[in-house]
Amino acid sequence: MARLDGRTALVTGAASGIGRACAEALAREGAAVFATDLDGAGAEACAAAIREAGGQAAAAEQDVVDEARWDAVMADAAGAFGPVTILVNNAGVALGGAIETYSLADWRQQMAINSDSVFLGVRAGFQAMKDAEAASIVNISSVAGLRGAAGLGAYCASKGAVRLFSKAAAIEAAQLGYKIRVNSVHPGIIDTPIWTKEITRLAEAAPENTPAPGVEIPAGANAIDADQVAAATTPLGRVGRPMEIADMVVFLASEESSFITGQEMVVDGGMTAR
Ligand code: NAD
Repeated sequence: MARLDGRTALVTGAASGIGRACAEALAREGAAVFATDLDGAGAEACAAAIREAGGQAAAAEQDVVDEARWDAVMADAAGAFGPVTILVNNAGVALGGAIETYSLADWRQQMAINSDSVFLGVRAGFQAMKDAEAASIVNISSVAGLRGAAGLGAYCASKGAVRLFSKAAAIEAAQLGYKIRVNSVHPGIIDTPIWTKEITRLAEAAPENTPAPGVEIPAGANAIDADQVAAATTPLGRVGRPMEIADMVVFLASEESSFITGQEMVVDGGMTAR
């Protein structure tokens, strides 16, 4: 019997990077996965890959900032596979930029996509899972939710919010007698398209901004070399793989972590050890 047989997992931001790896890893361990993303076609590609590998999956387009959509997605996932008992709030963006020139609109967008979404997901998760015998919510924060970084002020704030909201939610669920554990995961530098998206945006807005302090962006470059950033910042000396985050998410989703709630699980190659 696989570790997650009989469970239904909802994964947001499942079209790419860490979210896709989480969806695939949860399915490999027996969960039926409902993969959602702003990129509906990408979510469907994720679900199709899981089905081709012999797993159970379906997909839907979801903007995690859309309040009304959460109830519909929870209901659709339950309709497809049975009640959701695993929720991975993974969808996120990094909107870097120097504070002095950062717009309020960008700040609000950053907080909406990375923080409001986690509130909406946890609220929907509580409503859907409160009668479950065992349920787990995993919120993807960042090492940027543990410490500051120049050029990433709004991103750090949004991820710090995820860290403390997860702890408050864990305690509240326990007090209410819900068997829902809530934890946050804090990736270091992971090899996903997020780096390309951010530098493209920054290059357009303000080429002098550097999202990873101390790391030069080569003139004319249109993508950050995550390996170069990792070599400069990570004791293990390399970038992380999305599946290395997914392995932690599977652990937190499973009953192997049945006594772990309200915790911040750092998966960063040692970056925050120094
Ligand atoms: P990614 O860009 O590869 O994937 C993010 C996914 O989220 C994309 O498929 C995108 O379409 C989706 N998305 C964005 N906005 C959305 C919205 N409003 N509604 C629904 N989906 C939306 O990035 P990733 O690196 O896989 O990032 C996943 C999570 O991990 C993010 O929360 C990110 O902040 C976090 N994280 C990443 C790293 C890293 O180094 N890659 C490090 C720490 C934390």
